[in-house]
Amino acid sequence: MKDFELYEPKSIEEACRYLARHRGRARVLAGGTDLLVELKGGRVKLAAVVSLKSIKGLNKITYTRKEGLRIGAMVTWTQLLDSKPVARNYPLLRKAAEKMGSIQIRNVGTLAGNISHASPAANGPIPLLLYEAECMVEGPKGKRVIPVEKVFGGVQKNTLRSAEVLTEIRVPTPPPGANGTYYKFALRRAMDLAVVGVGALVRAKNGVFDDVRVALGSVGPKPFRAKRAEKVLSGKMIGDQLIREAGEAAASECAPITDVRASKEYRIELVKELTFRAIKESLS
Ligand SMILES: Cc1cc2nc3c(=O)[nH]c(=O)nc-3n(C[C@H](O)[C@H](O)[C@H](O)COP(=O)(O)OP(=O)(O)OC[C@H]3O[C@@H](n4cnc5c(N)ncnc54)[C@H](O)[C@@H]3O)c2cc1C
Repeated sequence: MKDFELYEPKSIEEACRYLARHRGRARVLAGGTDLLVELKGGRVKLAAVVSLKSIKGLNKITYTRKEGLRIGAMVTWTQLLDSKPVARNYPLLRKAAEKMGSIQIRNVGTLAGNISHASPAANGPIPLLLYEAECMVEGPKGKRVIPVEKVFGGVQKNTLRSAEVLTEIRVPTPPPGANGTYYKFALRRAMDLAVVGVGALVRAKNGVFDDVRVALGSVGPKPFRAKRAEKVLSGKMIGDQLIREAGEAAASECAPITDVRASKEYRIELVKELTFRAIKESLS
């Protein structure tokens, strides 16, 4: 591994200053479960690493019905699993945490790191897309809010500007009466990335699809909301034939690749079937 400067700032402002000083050649360090693998493997070469570990207050989770859930940048997957507000109000986020790597990875890896790393196969994006979360970002030019849908720029590319830090993830309270599920289809039960990720959050009223959200991962350069599938269902009478059509629509929005885990054709079939199952399960 090539030598680099390690900074341990005490504030976000200070962190941004170090990032700006090494513009484009410095990165934030949270749990390090993605970054250190890249550094050790030589895939990433940096002049500086800016650790967030000494900045107070970034490891907090708060919840109120009005404000929703606020997840600090250093909140780990284990903290999410231990959180009562998450267990009560955000079952899909909890499911993503349960299916995350191993105990060791969950103990240090963060949700903010997972989102910033922007892997199309990651666990975190699916529930955050379904709950319509927002990323609070701070940089040398001030603070801004990025809807989670817009934070993914491509394979392992986020849309944060140089010297910006993701400080908090805000997750609104889910619509009352909505139910959902998250399927991470992987070749192994643990320590594996998704071949395909499919999530749904559905609210039905009087036999009609009222609010339908479908999110997909590992079937394109970034995780995304399957808007065509949602449109097929919204405002229509619930029925298996219609849900199958939504699965077909979801598949039409995907652009998967063939890699060591699966072929693109297999991924497309998985999307059709898992979208159908996710919506059915959400309705039950
Ligand atoms: C053995 C193993 C198993 C894994 N299993 C899974 C799995 O099942 N599912 C899954 O989704 N992932 C998995 N991962 C990937 C990884 O653990 C997660 O993505 C984790 O959540 C990353 O968080 P971190 O805090 O370790 O990020 P880091 O490695 O610290 O950072 C990741 C990237 O995001 C940037 N970054 C981090 N925090 C911020 C911030 N606040 N602002 C701006 N940029 C930031 C860093 O600069 C870096 O580029 C696995 C990794 C390993 C090594």
